[in-house]
Amino acid sequence: MSFPSATPSFQRKDLLQQLNTQPDWDVIVIGGGATGLGVALDGLSRGYRTLLLEKTDFAKGTSSRATKLVHGGVRYLAQGDLGLVREALHERGLLLKNAPHLCKNQSFIIPNYEWWGGAFYTLGLKAYDLLAGNLSLGATTHIGRAETVRRLGNLRPAGLYGGVVYHDGQFDDARLAINLAQTGIELGGCLLNHCAVRGLLKDAQGQITGIQATDQETGQTYELRSRAVVNATGIFVDEILQLDAPGSPRLVRPSQGVHLVVDKSFLPGDDALMIPKTDDGRVLFAVPWHGRVILGTTDTPVPESSEEPQALDEEIDFILRTAGRYLTRPPQRGDVRSMFAGLRPLAAPQTGNGPTKELSRSHKILVSPAGLVTITGGKWTTYRRMGEDTVNKIIALGKLPPVPSQTARLRIHGAQPTTDYGSHLYVYGSDQAALQQLIAAEPALGGKLDPQLEFRRAEVVWAARHEMARTVEDVLARRVRVLFLDAVAAIRMAPAVAALLAAELGRDVSWQQQQVVDFERVARHYRLP
Ligand SMILES: Cc1cc2nc3c(=O)[nH]c(=O)nc-3n(C[C@H](O)[C@H](O)[C@H](O)COP(=O)(O)OP(=O)(O)OC[C@H]3O[C@@H](n4cnc5c(N)ncnc54)[C@H](O)[C@@H]3O)c2cc1C
Repeated sequence: MSFPSATPSFQRKDLLQQLNTQPDWDVIVIGGGATGLGVALDGLSRGYRTLLLEKTDFAKGTSSRATKLVHGGVRYLAQGDLGLVREALHERGLLLKNAPHLCKNQSFIIPNYEWWGGAFYTLGLKAYDLLAGNLSLGATTHIGRAETVRRLGNLRPAGLYGGVVYHDGQFDDARLAINLAQTGIELGGCLLNHCAVRGLLKDAQGQITGIQATDQETGQTYELRSRAVVNATGIFVDEILQLDAPGSPRLVRPSQGVHLVVDKSFLPGDDALMIPKTDDGRVLFAVPWHGRVILGTTDTPVPESSEEPQALDEEIDFILRTAGRYLTRPPQRGDVRSMFAGLRPLAAPQTGNGPTKELSRSHKILVSPAGLVTITGGKWTTYRRMGEDTVNKIIALGKLPPVPSQTARLRIHGAQPTTDYGSHLYVYGSDQAALQQLIAAEPALGGKLDPQLEFRRAEVVWAARHEMARTVEDVLARRVRVLFLDAVAAIRMAPAVAALLAAELGRDVSWQQQQVVDFERVARHYRLP
C-alpha cells in the first residue's frame, strides 16, 4: 500500500532513486498516455504501490494528438451505441469537475443546409443531453439563419437554413497527461518518463513477475518485480504482447487521424463548428483552441504504428476541401500553422478488413496466459473508467486485495474552483500563482520565447523543475503546446528553450545543439512543406 507523500518530488533523480530502493511493486504500468495514467491513478487511489514507466514522454503518443474533445461522441449516438455514449458522457462530467482548469464547456454549432436538418439534429442532440443526465453541459437549441451566421462569422450563408447548438467538453490533452502524472506522484506513486520497458520477467511456471526497464538517458537497466503488470502502450501494445508470447496475433489495427491548425480568423467566434457528415461519412470539426482553430479529422487505416506518424497529402487536401466548402474564406495550404497526425489504437477484429471507422471505440481488457493485463481501445474522455476497469480486473484475478476506486472524485493537480481565461497561463491552474512568483523573483524569465507568441521563458524553467520535461520537444510539444499551434515559431524558439533547459538540467553546449537538431527533425512532421 502507498500513501500520499508529504513532499512529493518531481525531480528525476528522486524518482529514479525509488527504482533502486523499491524493487517490489503492486502494479507496474507500461505506457504513459491517457490509458496508462488512468490505470496508475486508479491503483494509487486504492493505495496500491504503483509504478508507471513511459518510454519517451507522457502523452508523446496518441494522447497529445486528439481533437481535444471531452465528449460522448455524437457519431456513436448516430450509430446507436447508447451504452458507449452514456458512459463517455458520465466521464465527461466527472473530468470537467476534476480538472476544471484544463477542461471546459464548449458550444458547437451544426449548420443546417437541408430543410430537415434543424429538426433532425435538435432531436438527436436532445437525446444526447438526456443521456448525460444531471452531468449535462447545457440544453441543445435550434437557432435561426442570421444567428448561425453571426456566431460562426466565416460560415458560408448560401443555402443555409439555420443551426443547432449543442454542448460538449474541450481540453488540453498533453497538459492533462502531465497533471495526471503529477497527481500520481502526489498520491505516493512513481511515474517516470524516458524509461522504456524492454523485457518481461517470468517465474518457473511462466507467469509474469515483473519487467526489465532502461533509463533512456543513462542506459542504466532495472529489474523490477510486481504483482500485476499492465500493458497500456496504445498503438504499441503488440510489441509488449510479442515480448510476452512471440507470435501472438495482432491486437491493434492503427487508424490515422490528421488535424490542421489555422488562425482564429477562420472561425472568429467562441463556438466550434461541427459538420456531421463529410464525403467519407465522418464528422469534421473546427474547434477554437488556445487562440487558434483545429480542423479535423480523418480516419485512414495505416499498415504499422510509428512514433511520429506522417499526415498524408490526401488527408490534408480532404480537410481543407471539406472545411472550404463551409467557409466563406476557405483555408489554403499556406494558412496551415501546424498539422499533427495521431494513431487510434483500435482493437482489431480477428476477422475481416472493413473500414476502421466501423471498429468499436470501446475499450478491451485482455489477460494473457502468463498474466499480462493489456488494455486497449477507448478514448481520452473515458481514461478514468478504463483505469478503474483495469484495476478491477487485476483484483478479480486475485492479484491484489479488493479496495474500491477513489478516482471519480479525485481532483487532478492544478484543479481550482474558477478559471480566469485572461492569460494563456490559465492552463497551470493552481500552479499559476507560483509561476508568476518565479517571474517576480527573476524578471528576465518574464520575457517572451518568441516576440510573436505569448509563451514566457519562465514556462521552460517551470516545465523542467515541476513538470518532468527533459528535452526541448517535451517542452515545446507537450508543456507549452507551441509545436501544435505554430510549428515554424516552435522551431524558432528551440535554441532559447535548449539554453534554458541546459541551465536547469546541468547540460553542456553540445547537448543543447543536439537538442535543437533533434527537435527540428520532429518538427518537420508538423509543417506543411
Ligand atoms: C486523431 C485522433 C483524435 C482523437 N480525438 C479524441 C478526442 O477528441 N477525445 C477523446 O476522448 N479521444 C480522442 N481520441 C482517442 C484518444 O486520443 C486515445 O484513445 C488515447 O489518447 C489513447 O491513449 P493510450 O494511452 O492508449 O495511447 P498513447 O497515448 O499512444 O500512449 C501509449 C504510450 O506508451 C508508450 N510506450 C510504448 N512502448 C513502451 C515501452 N516499451 N515502455 C514504456 N512505454 C512505452 C508510448 O511512448 C506512449 O506514450 C483521438 C484519437 C485520435 C487518433
